[in-house]
Amino acid sequence: MCIFCKIINHEIPSSVIYEDDDVLAILDISQVTRGHTLVMPKKHVRNVLEADEETVQKCILTARKLAAQIVTNLHASGVNILTNCGESAGQSVDHLHFHIIPRYDSSDAIQITFGETEQDLESVRRDILG
Ligand code: AMP
Ligand code: ZN
Repeated sequence: MCIFCKIINHEIPSSVIYEDDDVLAILDISQVTRGHTLVMPKKHVRNVLEADEETVQKCILTARKLAAQIVTNLHASGVNILTNCGESAGQSVDHLHFHIIPRYDSSDAIQITFGETEQDLESVRRDILG
């Protein structure tokens, strides 16, 4: 059984922020910023690409609601809501989860930077469309 399924089954303790029949939200143990939260479906599914639409919908709508609550109550100035999908994208637990990472200032322990590469946009577009 995966570590998040064990948390969902209360076999491993966690700090629960929200729970309903389908979704659980807990504090991420790493607390990359204060209030860092994980929103996951109770049913085991590997990642956002493998999940059914209803599961994704429930998780992302819960994440949005909790993100608003976290930003307000922890006085954050912004928030990243993201899901890592696959090892190359940084996914370390193979049970779908959305990170809510409230942002405070540029010295946060998380930096998200978009660098640039040289690409021919028309050939990229053609390859994506297949
Ligand atoms: P990811 O790298 O996107 O798969 O995220 C997995 C996250 O799960 C990491 O941010 C970990 O800190 C977090 N994590 C791992 N084990 C636990 C746990 N027992 N309780 C809370 N968060 C955890
Ligand atoms: Zn699981």
